[in-house]
Amino acid sequence: MNNLDKKYHIWTAGCQMNVADSRRLGSSLEHLGYNFTAQAKEADVLVLNTCVVRQSAEDKALGFLHSIRPLKKNNPDLVINLMGCLVGVRGSEKLQKKLPFVDVFSPPSDPGPLIAYLTQDEDYVAETTATQNRFALMDGEIIIPEHERGKLVSAFIPVVYGCSHACTYCIIPYQRGIERSRPLGEIVAEARSLAEQGVKEITLLGQIVDRYGKEVEDGPNLADLLRILNDVEGLERIRFLTSHPDYFGEDIMEAVADLPRAMPHFEVPIQAGDDKVLENMKRGYTQADYRKLIALIREKVPDCSIATDIIVGFPGETEEQFEQTYQLLADLKMDVAHLARYSPREGTVSARRMPDDIPDAEKRRRFHRLEALQKTIATEINARYLGESVEVLFEEKVKGRWRGRTPTNKLVFVETDDDLRGQIIPVRITWTGPWSMQASLIRKPIISL
Ligand code: SAH
Repeated sequence: MNNLDKKYHIWTAGCQMNVADSRRLGSSLEHLGYNFTAQAKEADVLVLNTCVVRQSAEDKALGFLHSIRPLKKNNPDLVINLMGCLVGVRGSEKLQKKLPFVDVFSPPSDPGPLIAYLTQDEDYVAETTATQNRFALMDGEIIIPEHERGKLVSAFIPVVYGCSHACTYCIIPYQRGIERSRPLGEIVAEARSLAEQGVKEITLLGQIVDRYGKEVEDGPNLADLLRILNDVEGLERIRFLTSHPDYFGEDIMEAVADLPRAMPHFEVPIQAGDDKVLENMKRGYTQADYRKLIALIREKVPDCSIATDIIVGFPGETEEQFEQTYQLLADLKMDVAHLARYSPREGTVSARRMPDDIPDAEKRRRFHRLEALQKTIATEINARYLGESVEVLFEEKVKGRWRGRTPTNKLVFVETDDDLRGQIIPVRITWTGPWSMQASLIRKPIISL
């Protein structure tokens, strides 16, 4: 098939998993001979990879969708593919009626429907992991589009699709389906393929990444996977997210402590600091469990960094309950806290059974209180880096400054004319703030006695 002059554009919203899904869909299109364009209006195939985790994300997706409607009017041959969590895994009949100008609807992580549409492939079998990966990894290779070839330093690899944990507020299990771990061989093949194309860092993704392999008794788990990936030639750094406190075992901490390429940074959401709220969220642990876990991680992996997620204004959250979250954050001093205001998602248990009774102004007030606290904590933690030498993997130049990350995932900027892309270089931290740092290159090697 000759698609040499055909162009595709992918618009992506939402989490890292969507970014990974878009890359894999892009790879499928590259295999078919399509080329990437940065201009939506130049595309022959236009993909919208959507998120619905909060109302604001859903609004953004619908806004973009309606903004491209005129493109279809001007060019009836344009193929529009709506993908991701707005579509979900439970069929798209309702959406099809609402959005007649969309040609193809695809569940999250699945390039299949679009590829089937473009190739008229009758053999396409919907919604199997094997199919998803057959299309993304044709010939066992992820193709990085030309504009990024040789430039992409860090990439995501999904290792667990879907989620079977029933947090009462969360729409993800409904939209992404049940939990499925990818076969180890396939993940390793994808990591090798990326490394061969110059990628230095991979981040393994799963809604609950520490559940990797748990469906299969005696099968490889996340710690095993880290050990195997640590030996992939060309890879320098391995990260993973998101971890659920209930599954974050010591074997994972030990693997990170042992393996030179596994980076000492963890994303372990607490969501709320009060036990009753945690129970209403059906998270499956208590505040005390979480405190114990964080202490253990810090003991096993000294000098690590830890990020958490918090939702404020969950139904029924009282001022006292919110104070528990505040106190927990003040005590534990996390490196990063991703904060969100509770947003009821249609169909979830909390939206059906628990009134969204915290006024928006109050949710905002709680959000800002935590934000201010976290700013102070992060300022304090990051200030410890001042004057230190740290190894940074540089990714790209943004507005004249090279941007990279420390092993602990701190964002570092260096002003230099040298080309630092893809290099791991020790730098001296010269300025620190709550969200990023600045550094200068250390030209002479440090002599340790
Ligand atoms: N699977 C991961 C991440 C899920 S989505 C986990 O278990 O934590 C990312 C974050 O969005 C969540 O950690 C949560 O803090 C937030 N989130 C999810 N649903 C939400 C909702 N209905 N309202 C507000 N924030 C939500």
